[in-house]
Amino acid sequence: GQPTVGELAKLMHKQASDIIKFLFLMGNMATINTVLDDETVELIGMEFNIEVTKEHIVEEYNFEELDEEDDPKLLESRPPVVTIMGHVDHGKTTLLDTIRKTKVTEGEFGGITQHIGAYQVTVKGKKVSFLDTPGHEAFTAMRARGAKVTDVTVIVVAADDGVMPQTKEAVDHAKAAGVPMIVAVNKMDKEGANPDRVMSEMSELGCMPEEWGGDTIFVPVSAKNGDGVNDLLENILVVAEMQDLKANPHKMATGTVIEAKLDKGRGAVATLLIQNGTLHASDAIVVGTAFGHVRKMVDDLGREIKTAGPSTPVEIIGLNSVPIAGDVFKAFDQEKKARQIAEARLQARVEEERNASSAMSLEDLAKQIEEGEIQSINVIVKADVQGSAEAVKSSLEKIDVDGVRVNVIRSTAGAITESDIMLASASQAIVVGFNVRPNAAVRKKAEDEGVQIRLHNIIYKVIEEMESAMKGMLAPVY
Ligand code: GDP
Repeated sequence: GQPTVGELAKLMHKQASDIIKFLFLMGNMATINTVLDDETVELIGMEFNIEVTKEHIVEEYNFEELDEEDDPKLLESRPPVVTIMGHVDHGKTTLLDTIRKTKVTEGEFGGITQHIGAYQVTVKGKKVSFLDTPGHEAFTAMRARGAKVTDVTVIVVAADDGVMPQTKEAVDHAKAAGVPMIVAVNKMDKEGANPDRVMSEMSELGCMPEEWGGDTIFVPVSAKNGDGVNDLLENILVVAEMQDLKANPHKMATGTVIEAKLDKGRGAVATLLIQNGTLHASDAIVVGTAFGHVRKMVDDLGREIKTAGPSTPVEIIGLNSVPIAGDVFKAFDQEKKARQIAEARLQARVEEERNASSAMSLEDLAKQIEEGEIQSINVIVKADVQGSAEAVKSSLEKIDVDGVRVNVIRSTAGAITESDIMLASASQAIVVGFNVRPNAAVRKKAEDEGVQIRLHNIIYKVIEEMESAMKGMLAPVY
Protein backbone atom coordinates (compact mmCIF):
# COMPACT_ATOMS: atom_id res chain seq x y z
CA GLY A 1 0.00 0.00 0.00
CA GLN A 2 0.93 3.68 0.29
CA PRO A 3 3.86 4.51 2.58
CA THR A 4 3.65 6.78 5.60
CA VAL A 5 6.09 9.65 6.12
CA GLY A 6 8.05 7.49 8.57
CA GLU A 7 8.24 4.57 6.17
CA LEU A 8 9.30 6.74 3.28
CA ALA A 9 11.96 8.42 5.42
CA LYS A 10 13.36 5.04 6.34
CA LEU A 11 13.33 3.93 2.75
CA MET A 12 15.09 7.08 1.60
CA HIS A 13 17.52 7.04 4.52
CA LYS A 14 16.37 10.51 5.51
CA GLN A 15 15.12 11.99 8.75
CA ALA A 16 11.32 11.98 8.94
CA SER A 17 11.53 15.51 10.31
CA ASP A 18 13.19 16.71 7.10
CA ILE A 19 10.31 15.34 5.08
CA ILE A 20 7.79 16.85 7.49
CA LYS A 21 9.56 20.18 7.22
CA PHE A 22 9.49 20.00 3.43
CA LEU A 23 5.78 19.16 3.43
CA PHE A 24 5.10 21.98 5.86
CA LEU A 25 6.82 24.44 3.53
CA MET A 26 4.59 23.12 0.78
CA GLY A 27 1.61 23.98 2.98
CA ASN A 28 0.93 20.38 3.88
CA MET A 29 0.66 19.57 7.58
CA ALA A 30 1.99 16.06 8.02
CA THR A 31 3.11 13.87 10.87
CA ILE A 32 5.27 10.80 10.87
CA ASN A 33 2.15 8.65 10.45
CA THR A 34 0.60 10.56 7.56
CA VAL A 35 -0.05 8.28 4.59
CA LEU A 36 1.35 9.74 1.36
CA ASP A 37 -0.22 9.59 -2.07
CA ASP A 38 1.86 8.84 -5.18
CA GLU A 39 2.09 12.43 -6.27
CA THR A 40 3.43 13.59 -2.91
CA VAL A 41 5.92 10.73 -2.83
CA GLU A 42 7.18 11.84 -6.21
CA LEU A 43 7.50 15.44 -5.03
CA ILE A 44 9.45 14.39 -2.00
CA GLY A 45 11.68 12.25 -4.19
CA MET A 46 12.40 15.25 -6.41
CA GLU A 47 13.17 17.45 -3.44
CA PHE A 48 15.71 14.98 -2.08
CA ASN A 49 17.04 13.91 -5.46
CA ILE A 50 16.03 10.31 -5.05
CA GLU A 51 14.01 8.62 -7.72
CA VAL A 52 11.17 6.95 -5.91
CA THR A 53 8.90 5.04 -8.20
CA LYS A 54 6.05 3.16 -6.67
CA GLU A 55 7.56 -0.21 -7.47
CA HIS A 56 10.82 0.62 -5.76
CA ILE A 57 9.08 1.79 -2.65
CA VAL A 58 6.99 -1.30 -2.25
CA GLU A 59 9.72 -3.75 -3.14
CA GLU A 60 12.58 -2.22 -1.28
CA TYR A 61 10.53 -1.56 1.76
CA ASN A 62 9.53 -5.17 1.93
CA PHE A 63 13.11 -6.19 1.54
CA GLU A 64 14.31 -3.97 4.35
CA GLU A 65 11.61 -5.36 6.54
CA LEU A 66 12.99 -8.68 5.42
CA ASP A 67 11.06 -11.01 7.55
CA GLU A 68 7.37 -10.72 7.23
CA GLU A 69 5.69 -12.38 10.21
CA ASP A 70 5.71 -16.14 9.99
CA ASP A 71 2.67 -18.21 10.69
CA PRO A 72 3.59 -19.86 14.02
CA LYS A 73 2.36 -23.19 12.66
CA LEU A 74 5.12 -23.11 10.04
CA LEU A 75 7.96 -22.46 12.49
CA GLU A 76 10.46 -25.24 13.17
CA SER A 77 13.51 -25.45 15.43
CA ARG A 78 16.73 -24.32 13.84
CA PRO A 79 20.36 -24.90 14.86
CA PRO A 80 22.14 -22.22 16.92
CA VAL A 81 24.82 -20.07 15.27
CA VAL A 82 27.90 -19.72 17.45
CA THR A 83 30.77 -17.20 17.36
CA ILE A 84 34.06 -17.70 19.21
CA MET A 85 35.77 -14.62 20.61
CA GLY A 86 38.60 -13.93 23.03
CA HIS A 87 42.10 -12.56 23.45
CA VAL A 88 44.76 -13.25 20.83
CA ASP A 89 46.60 -16.55 21.36
CA HIS A 90 44.08 -17.84 23.86
CA GLY A 91 43.19 -20.63 21.44
CA LYS A 92 40.20 -19.53 19.33
CA THR A 93 41.54 -20.95 16.07
CA THR A 94 42.69 -24.17 17.71
CA LEU A 95 39.29 -24.62 19.34
CA LEU A 96 37.45 -24.05 16.05
CA ASP A 97 39.75 -26.57 14.34
CA THR A 98 39.37 -29.14 17.10
CA ILE A 99 35.58 -28.88 17.14
CA ARG A 100 35.46 -29.31 13.41
CA LYS A 101 37.93 -32.20 13.29
CA THR A 102 36.42 -34.23 16.10
CA LYS A 103 32.92 -33.80 14.79
CA VAL A 104 33.33 -33.89 11.05
CA THR A 105 35.62 -36.88 10.60
CA GLU A 106 33.07 -38.97 12.44
CA GLY A 107 30.87 -38.81 9.35
CA GLU A 108 31.16 -41.03 6.32
CA PHE A 109 32.64 -38.17 4.35
CA GLY A 110 36.44 -38.40 4.21
CA GLY A 111 36.93 -35.23 6.20
CA ILE A 112 37.94 -33.13 3.22
CA THR A 113 36.82 -29.85 4.62
CA GLN A 114 36.70 -26.57 2.90
CA HIS A 115 37.08 -23.21 4.56
CA ILE A 116 34.03 -21.16 3.63
CA GLY A 117 33.86 -18.96 6.76
CA ALA A 118 31.39 -21.11 8.67
CA TYR A 119 30.74 -24.77 9.30
CA GLN A 120 28.20 -27.05 10.85
CA VAL A 121 28.71 -29.99 13.19
CA THR A 122 26.39 -32.50 14.81
CA VAL A 123 26.27 -32.82 18.59
CA LYS A 124 24.07 -35.55 20.08
CA GLY A 125 22.08 -35.66 16.88
CA LYS A 126 21.57 -31.89 16.82
CA LYS A 127 23.24 -29.47 14.44
CA VAL A 128 25.31 -26.49 15.57
CA SER A 129 26.72 -23.86 13.18
CA PHE A 130 29.99 -22.05 13.87
CA LEU A 131 31.30 -18.90 12.26
CA ASP A 132 34.95 -19.75 11.82
CA THR A 133 36.41 -16.31 11.49
CA PRO A 134 37.51 -15.99 15.09
CA GLY A 135 37.73 -12.70 16.89
CA HIS A 136 35.37 -9.84 17.24
CA GLU A 137 36.37 -7.89 14.15
CA ALA A 138 34.12 -9.98 11.94
CA PHE A 139 31.38 -9.97 14.57
CA THR A 140 31.54 -6.19 14.94
CA ALA A 141 31.79 -5.54 11.23
CA MET A 142 28.60 -7.51 10.74
CA ARG A 143 26.82 -5.81 13.61
CA ALA A 144 27.89 -2.45 12.24
CA ARG A 145 25.95 -3.36 9.10
CA GLY A 146 22.97 -4.22 11.22
CA ALA A 147 23.25 -7.99 10.85
CA LYS A 148 22.34 -10.16 13.77
CA VAL A 149 23.63 -13.64 13.12
CA THR A 150 24.98 -14.97 16.40
CA ASP A 151 22.85 -16.86 18.93
CA VAL A 152 25.59 -17.91 21.35
CA THR A 153 29.08 -16.53 21.97
CA VAL A 154 31.92 -18.61 23.33
CA ILE A 155 34.49 -16.46 25.12
CA VAL A 156 37.82 -18.28 25.16
CA VAL A 157 40.10 -17.46 28.08
CA ALA A 158 43.49 -19.17 28.48
CA ALA A 159 43.70 -20.57 32.00
CA ASP A 160 47.42 -19.76 32.22
CA ASP A 161 46.93 -16.14 31.20
CA GLY A 162 43.55 -15.02 32.53
CA VAL A 163 41.38 -12.14 31.40
CA MET A 164 43.16 -9.82 28.96
CA PRO A 165 42.13 -6.60 27.16
CA GLN A 166 40.53 -8.38 24.19
CA THR A 167 38.66 -10.68 26.57
CA LYS A 168 37.02 -7.56 28.00
CA GLU A 169 36.27 -6.28 24.52
CA ALA A 170 34.71 -9.59 23.56
CA VAL A 171 32.46 -9.45 26.63
CA ASP A 172 31.50 -5.85 25.79
CA HIS A 173 30.58 -6.90 22.27
CA ALA A 174 28.52 -9.88 23.35
CA LYS A 175 26.70 -7.78 25.96
CA ALA A 176 26.06 -4.92 23.55
CA ALA A 177 24.60 -7.41 21.09
CA GLY A 178 22.57 -9.11 23.81
CA VAL A 179 24.01 -12.52 22.92
CA PRO A 180 24.38 -15.10 25.72
CA MET A 181 27.94 -16.13 26.59
CA ILE A 182 29.64 -19.35 27.58
CA VAL A 183 33.21 -19.18 28.88
CA ALA A 184 35.64 -21.81 27.61
CA VAL A 185 38.51 -21.91 30.08
CA ASN A 186 41.19 -23.13 27.69
CA LYS A 187 44.69 -24.59 27.96
CA MET A 188 43.73 -26.64 31.02
CA ASP A 189 46.49 -29.08 30.02
CA LYS A 190 49.14 -26.48 30.74
CA GLU A 191 51.09 -26.21 33.89
CA GLY A 192 50.06 -23.04 35.66
CA ALA A 193 46.47 -23.33 34.47
CA ASN A 194 44.40 -21.46 37.03
CA PRO A 195 40.66 -21.72 36.30
CA ASP A 196 39.70 -20.07 39.60
CA ARG A 197 41.51 -16.95 38.58
CA VAL A 198 39.67 -16.91 35.26
CA MET A 199 36.36 -17.29 37.09
CA SER A 200 37.04 -14.46 39.48
CA GLU A 201 38.34 -12.14 36.77
CA MET A 202 35.33 -12.91 34.59
CA SER A 203 33.05 -12.27 37.57
CA GLU A 204 34.47 -8.77 37.75
CA LEU A 205 33.24 -8.30 34.17
CA GLY A 206 29.76 -9.35 35.20
CA CYS A 207 30.08 -13.02 34.17
CA MET A 208 29.63 -14.86 37.46
CA PRO A 209 29.94 -18.66 37.28
CA GLU A 210 26.90 -20.79 38.09
CA GLU A 211 28.91 -22.48 40.87
CA TRP A 212 29.20 -19.11 42.55
CA GLY A 213 25.54 -18.22 42.20
CA GLY A 214 25.79 -16.46 38.87
CA ASP A 215 24.36 -17.51 35.54
CA THR A 216 27.38 -17.94 33.29
CA ILE A 217 28.48 -21.42 32.30
CA PHE A 218 32.25 -22.03 32.50
CA VAL A 219 33.66 -25.11 30.78
CA PRO A 220 37.29 -26.16 31.28
CA VAL A 221 38.78 -27.36 27.98
CA SER A 222 41.98 -28.09 26.19
CA ALA A 223 41.57 -27.09 22.57
CA LYS A 224 44.91 -28.79 21.95
CA ASN A 225 44.07 -32.31 23.12
CA GLY A 226 40.29 -32.08 22.91
CA ASP A 227 39.52 -32.50 26.62
CA GLY A 228 36.22 -30.90 27.60
CA VAL A 229 35.29 -30.00 24.02
CA ASN A 230 32.26 -32.32 24.02
CA ASP A 231 31.16 -30.83 27.30
CA LEU A 232 31.46 -27.36 25.79
CA LEU A 233 29.37 -28.39 22.78
CA GLU A 234 26.67 -29.89 24.97
CA ASN A 235 26.53 -26.70 27.00
CA ILE A 236 26.17 -24.69 23.82
CA LEU A 237 23.10 -26.81 23.07
CA VAL A 238 21.74 -26.12 26.55
CA VAL A 239 22.11 -22.36 26.16
CA ALA A 240 20.67 -22.52 22.64
CA GLU A 241 17.67 -24.55 23.76
CA MET A 242 16.78 -21.91 26.33
CA GLN A 243 16.36 -19.47 23.46
CA ASP A 244 13.93 -21.70 21.58
CA LEU A 245 15.36 -20.78 18.18
CA LYS A 246 12.89 -21.15 15.36
CA ALA A 247 12.60 -20.39 11.67
CA ASN A 248 10.22 -21.07 8.81
CA PRO A 249 11.83 -23.35 6.21
CA HIS A 250 8.76 -23.18 3.97
CA LYS A 251 9.50 -19.92 2.18
CA MET A 252 12.13 -18.18 0.07
CA ALA A 253 15.41 -17.72 1.93
CA THR A 254 16.75 -14.65 3.72
CA GLY A 255 20.04 -14.31 5.58
CA THR A 256 23.44 -12.66 5.80
CA VAL A 257 26.76 -12.71 3.94
CA ILE A 258 29.52 -14.24 6.07
CA GLU A 259 32.38 -13.90 3.61
CA ALA A 260 32.76 -12.93 -0.03
CA LYS A 261 35.56 -12.73 -2.53
CA LEU A 262 36.31 -12.49 -6.21
CA ASP A 263 37.61 -15.73 -7.67
CA LYS A 264 39.41 -15.52 -11.02
CA GLY A 265 37.70 -18.55 -12.47
CA ARG A 266 34.32 -18.51 -10.74
CA GLY A 267 33.55 -14.81 -10.34
CA ALA A 268 31.91 -13.55 -7.15
CA VAL A 269 31.92 -16.24 -4.46
CA ALA A 270 29.87 -15.63 -1.32
CA THR A 271 29.30 -17.59 1.85
CA LEU A 272 25.75 -17.06 3.03
CA LEU A 273 24.22 -17.96 6.32
CA ILE A 274 20.59 -18.79 5.75
CA GLN A 275 18.59 -17.35 8.64
CA ASN A 276 15.07 -18.02 7.52
CA GLY A 277 13.46 -19.92 4.68
CA THR A 278 15.14 -22.38 2.34
CA LEU A 279 17.58 -21.51 -0.44
CA HIS A 280 17.39 -23.60 -3.62
CA ALA A 281 20.01 -23.97 -6.31
CA SER A 282 18.80 -21.73 -9.18
CA ASP A 283 16.86 -19.27 -6.98
CA ALA A 284 17.10 -15.62 -8.03
CA ILE A 285 18.82 -13.69 -5.29
CA VAL A 286 19.67 -10.16 -4.13
CA VAL A 287 22.74 -9.92 -1.90
CA GLY A 288 23.42 -6.41 -0.63
CA THR A 289 23.47 -4.56 -3.93
CA ALA A 290 24.53 -7.57 -6.01
CA PHE A 291 22.10 -9.90 -7.71
CA GLY A 292 21.98 -12.98 -9.88
CA HIS A 293 20.81 -16.50 -9.46
CA VAL A 294 22.40 -19.31 -7.53
CA ARG A 295 24.42 -21.12 -10.19
CA LYS A 296 26.04 -23.56 -7.83
CA MET A 297 25.70 -24.09 -4.10
CA VAL A 298 28.11 -26.12 -1.93
CA ASP A 299 28.18 -26.90 1.78
CA ASP A 300 31.16 -26.63 4.15
CA LEU A 301 32.39 -30.03 3.05
CA GLY A 302 32.53 -28.93 -0.56
CA ARG A 303 29.52 -31.08 -1.53
CA GLU A 304 27.16 -29.66 -4.08
CA ILE A 305 23.69 -29.29 -2.58
CA LYS A 306 20.29 -28.40 -4.01
CA THR A 307 18.58 -26.94 -0.94
CA ALA A 308 19.74 -25.38 2.32
CA GLY A 309 17.55 -24.57 5.29
CA PRO A 310 17.79 -22.17 8.29
CA SER A 311 21.19 -21.75 10.04
CA THR A 312 23.02 -23.53 7.21
CA PRO A 313 26.14 -21.90 5.79
CA VAL A 314 26.58 -22.33 2.03
CA GLU A 315 28.94 -21.05 -0.57
CA ILE A 316 27.33 -19.84 -3.77
CA ILE A 317 28.40 -18.51 -7.15
CA GLY A 318 26.32 -16.63 -9.68
CA LEU A 319 26.28 -13.02 -8.40
CA ASN A 320 27.09 -10.09 -10.66
CA SER A 321 29.35 -8.41 -8.09
CA VAL A 322 31.04 -9.16 -4.78
CA PRO A 323 28.92 -8.36 -1.71
CA ILE A 324 30.26 -7.33 1.71
CA ALA A 325 30.27 -9.41 4.90
CA GLY A 326 27.19 -8.41 6.85
CA ASP A 327 25.11 -7.68 3.75
CA VAL A 328 21.64 -9.11 3.88
CA PHE A 329 20.33 -11.36 1.12
CA LYS A 330 16.91 -12.46 -0.04
CA ALA A 331 15.88 -15.01 -2.61
CA PHE A 332 13.11 -14.43 -5.16
CA ASP A 333 11.29 -16.56 -7.63
CA GLN A 334 12.10 -14.27 -10.58
CA GLU A 335 15.45 -12.83 -11.57
CA LYS A 336 13.82 -9.69 -12.98
CA LYS A 337 12.49 -8.82 -9.55
CA ALA A 338 15.89 -9.47 -8.00
CA ARG A 339 17.51 -7.09 -10.48
CA GLN A 340 15.03 -4.28 -9.77
CA ILE A 341 15.51 -4.56 -6.06
CA ALA A 342 19.29 -4.73 -6.34
CA GLU A 343 19.20 -1.51 -8.35
CA ALA A 344 16.97 0.22 -5.83
CA ARG A 345 19.26 -0.89 -3.04
CA LEU A 346 22.35 0.30 -4.86
CA GLN A 347 20.75 3.70 -5.23
CA ALA A 348 19.78 3.77 -1.58
CA ARG A 349 23.30 2.80 -0.54
CA VAL A 350 24.92 5.49 -2.66
CA GLU A 351 22.53 7.96 -1.10
CA GLU A 352 23.27 6.67 2.36
CA GLU A 353 27.00 6.98 1.82
CA ARG A 354 26.49 10.49 0.58
CA ASN A 355 24.71 11.35 3.80
CA ALA A 356 27.22 9.22 5.72
CA SER A 357 25.74 9.73 9.11
CA SER A 358 23.88 6.57 9.89
CA ALA A 359 25.76 6.71 13.18
CA MET A 360 24.49 8.71 16.10
CA SER A 361 25.45 12.29 16.74
CA LEU A 362 24.54 14.42 19.71
CA GLU A 363 22.96 16.98 17.39
CA ASP A 364 20.49 14.38 16.07
CA LEU A 365 19.64 13.09 19.46
CA ALA A 366 16.88 15.39 20.58
CA LYS A 367 15.13 14.93 17.28
CA GLN A 368 15.21 11.17 17.59
CA ILE A 369 14.05 11.27 21.18
CA GLU A 370 11.18 13.50 20.19
CA GLU A 371 10.21 11.16 17.40
CA GLY A 372 10.23 8.32 19.86
CA GLU A 373 12.88 6.50 17.85
CA ILE A 374 15.17 5.83 20.79
CA GLN A 375 14.70 5.02 24.43
CA SER A 376 18.35 4.96 25.41
CA ILE A 377 21.63 6.40 24.20
CA ASN A 378 24.68 4.19 23.99
CA VAL A 379 27.89 5.78 25.20
CA ILE A 380 31.49 4.58 25.40
CA VAL A 381 33.57 6.29 28.07
CA LYS A 382 37.35 6.43 27.86
CA ALA A 383 39.29 8.23 30.59
CA ASP A 384 42.86 8.74 31.74
CA VAL A 385 42.32 6.72 34.91
CA GLN A 386 39.82 4.03 35.86
CA GLY A 387 38.41 6.15 38.71
CA SER A 388 37.39 8.91 36.32
CA ALA A 389 35.90 6.43 33.88
CA GLU A 390 33.74 5.05 36.70
CA ALA A 391 32.73 8.53 37.86
CA VAL A 392 31.74 9.65 34.37
CA LYS A 393 29.85 6.40 33.83
CA SER A 394 27.83 6.63 37.02
CA SER A 395 27.00 10.30 36.47
CA LEU A 396 25.88 9.63 32.90
CA GLU A 397 23.72 6.75 34.01
CA LYS A 398 21.86 9.00 36.43
CA ILE A 399 20.62 11.23 33.63
CA ASP A 400 16.94 10.84 32.83
CA VAL A 401 15.34 13.10 30.27
CA ASP A 402 11.70 12.23 29.70
CA GLY A 403 12.39 8.60 30.43
CA VAL A 404 15.31 8.39 28.00
CA ARG A 405 18.44 7.03 29.67
CA VAL A 406 22.14 6.80 28.96
CA ASN A 407 23.50 3.30 28.59
CA VAL A 408 27.27 3.10 29.07
CA ILE A 409 28.39 0.06 27.07
CA ARG A 410 32.08 0.39 27.84
CA SER A 411 33.99 2.48 30.34
CA THR A 412 37.70 1.94 30.68
CA ALA A 413 40.95 3.78 31.28
CA GLY A 414 43.13 4.35 28.24
CA ALA A 415 43.34 6.11 24.92
CA ILE A 416 40.43 6.04 22.48
CA THR A 417 41.20 3.16 20.10
CA GLU A 418 39.93 1.90 16.76
CA SER A 419 38.22 -0.91 18.61
CA ASP A 420 36.21 1.69 20.57
CA ILE A 421 35.18 3.27 17.29
CA MET A 422 34.10 -0.06 15.83
CA LEU A 423 32.07 -0.91 18.92
CA ALA A 424 30.52 2.58 18.77
CA SER A 425 29.71 2.17 15.11
CA ALA A 426 28.14 -1.23 15.65
CA SER A 427 26.14 -0.02 18.65
CA GLN A 428 25.27 3.45 17.36
CA ALA A 429 27.15 4.87 20.33
CA ILE A 430 28.80 8.19 21.09
CA VAL A 431 32.37 8.13 22.42
CA VAL A 432 33.16 10.39 25.37
CA GLY A 433 36.87 11.01 26.01
CA PHE A 434 37.72 12.30 29.45
CA ASN A 435 41.26 13.68 29.67
CA VAL A 436 42.18 11.55 26.68
CA ARG A 437 42.38 12.36 22.98
CA PRO A 438 42.17 10.19 19.89
CA ASN A 439 45.21 10.04 17.63
CA ALA A 440 44.97 10.88 13.93
CA ALA A 441 44.29 7.28 12.81
CA VAL A 442 41.47 6.91 15.31
CA ARG A 443 39.98 10.28 14.33
CA LYS A 444 40.05 9.19 10.71
CA LYS A 445 38.35 5.91 11.56
CA ALA A 446 35.68 7.78 13.52
CA GLU A 447 35.09 10.06 10.56
CA ASP A 448 34.79 7.11 8.16
CA GLU A 449 32.37 5.34 10.45
CA GLY A 450 30.43 8.49 11.26
CA VAL A 451 31.09 8.02 14.98
CA GLN A 452 31.02 11.12 17.14
CA ILE A 453 33.74 11.72 19.75
CA ARG A 454 33.16 14.31 22.48
CA LEU A 455 36.17 15.41 24.53
CA HIS A 456 36.01 16.81 28.06
CA ASN A 457 38.05 17.32 31.19
CA ILE A 458 35.40 18.35 33.69
CA ILE A 459 32.74 15.85 34.69
CA TYR A 460 29.85 18.26 35.06
CA LYS A 461 30.52 19.49 31.52
CA VAL A 462 30.07 15.96 30.21
CA ILE A 463 26.76 15.68 32.00
CA GLU A 464 25.63 19.16 31.07
CA GLU A 465 26.36 18.57 27.40
CA MET A 466 24.57 15.24 27.35
CA GLU A 467 21.52 16.66 29.09
CA SER A 468 21.28 19.64 26.78
CA ALA A 469 21.67 17.42 23.77
CA MET A 470 18.89 15.18 25.01
CA LYS A 471 16.64 18.17 25.56
CA GLY A 472 17.48 19.53 22.13
CA MET A 473 19.28 22.54 23.51
CA LEU A 474 22.76 21.84 22.26
CA ALA A 475 24.39 24.91 20.79
CA PRO A 476 24.39 24.35 17.05
CA VAL A 477 28.04 25.20 16.51
CA TYR A 478 30.50 22.90 18.21
P1 GDP B 1 43.98 -17.53 18.75
O1 GDP B 1 44.89 -16.38 18.46
O2 GDP B 1 43.06 -17.24 19.88
O3 GDP B 1 43.25 -18.05 17.53
O4 GDP B 1 44.92 -18.72 19.31
P2 GDP B 1 45.47 -20.01 18.58
O5 GDP B 1 44.41 -21.01 18.41
O6 GDP B 1 46.24 -19.60 17.39
O7 GDP B 1 46.43 -20.56 19.70
C1 GDP B 1 47.58 -19.84 20.15
C2 GDP B 1 48.62 -20.82 20.63
O8 GDP B 1 48.13 -21.51 21.77
C3 GDP B 1 48.98 -21.88 19.60
O9 GDP B 1 50.38 -22.11 19.69
C4 GDP B 1 48.20 -23.09 20.07
O10 GDP B 1 48.84 -24.29 19.72
C5 GDP B 1 48.21 -22.91 21.57
N1 GDP B 1 47.05 -23.54 22.21
C6 GDP B 1 45.75 -23.37 21.89
N2 GDP B 1 44.96 -24.10 22.67
C7 GDP B 1 45.77 -24.76 23.52
C8 GDP B 1 45.55 -25.70 24.60
O11 GDP B 1 44.42 -26.08 24.93
N3 GDP B 1 46.65 -26.14 25.25
C9 GDP B 1 47.91 -25.77 24.92
N4 GDP B 1 48.91 -26.27 25.63
N5 GDP B 1 48.14 -24.89 23.92
C10 GDP B 1 47.10 -24.40 23.24
